[in-house]
Amino acid sequence: MIIRIRFHGRGGQAMKTAGRVVGTSAFLEGFKAQDSPMYGPERRGAPVASFLRISDEEIGERGYVWSPDLIAVADPTLIEDPRAKVLDGLRENAAAFINVPSLTNLVVDGLTRVTNYDVTGAALRILGRAVLSSGVAGSVVKLLPISASSLEEAVKIEMEDIGLKEREIDLNVKLALECYEGTPKVPIEYATTEELEEFRAVALEQHPPEISTALIRNVGNTIYQKTGNWRISRPEIDYQKCTRCGVCFDYCPEAAISLVGPDRRPVIDYDQCKGCLICYNECPVKGAIRVVKEELVEKLAKGVTI
Ligand code: SF4
Ligand code: SF4
Repeated sequence: MIIRIRFHGRGGQAMKTAGRVVGTSAFLEGFKAQDSPMYGPERRGAPVASFLRISDEEIGERGYVWSPDLIAVADPTLIEDPRAKVLDGLRENAAAFINVPSLTNLVVDGLTRVTNYDVTGAALRILGRAVLSSGVAGSVVKLLPISASSLEEAVKIEMEDIGLKEREIDLNVKLALECYEGTPKVPIEYATTEELEEFRAVALEQHPPEISTALIRNVGNTIYQKTGNWRISRPEIDYQKCTRCGVCFDYCPEAAISLVGPDRRPVIDYDQCKGCLICYNECPVKGAIRVVKEELVEKLAKGVTI
């Protein structure tokens, strides 16, 4: 069997580490584990995901988990954000862990196996800040065939690995165990690799390391990663003030600006613009670029009803 888990959170909530802690817990319990974060949007506040497969046999699948058996959602506002793709590829019998104090009024796309715990509340109380990796890991481990002792050991290993001091490690263990104890169990059902074909699961043969090293087969494919969906603010160019100097074009790290037409007018591709605002900071003409908050960010700031 393979259990596929996808973690969703925002940059800074430590969902990559949560995946590592659960993976290490599984490994200590005798399973094989494969974890990886989503690369690209590592910026505070941006929707991020990480992926974990655990199995009692060799894992032949690679890449993102497109059809998870379990999702763990660190920030419930992401469920409403279509850009975060929290609900992508979910089968109707998939399970979900949501970091919320209560499931009242929470409907997650018809899923029936939904459980919760107030990890943020626990993290603020125990750690004094909303770092959620150990807590979310504790809640997720509760839903898997993994013991609390393996969880405890894994938190120690992973927290030491990222350089935490002994007292901080102890507090993380406390947080993980509280979330483990406090999370109601829901059953996890897993699909075979064959059943996942329609969800783009990649089934690979096992080869020795000499011939199975990772290989990038295609070049120039960053265009398909729509970095525009992690923008909090957008730059907008005032063509009355813009002198067509081209500085923004030179500095944009995403090549999201093109110089168009005979007057080399800078045009921003908002599918690719990630909102770093380097163009705004480098533009030598006052007022030629203004910064506008994205609509969704304003909505989230006002509070979203899920
Ligand atoms: S840097 Fe400013 S003035 Fe220069 S082309 Fe870009 S927007 Fe126009
Ligand atoms: S904010 Fe400006 S510099 Fe940054 S990605 Fe967008 S267009 Fe490029």
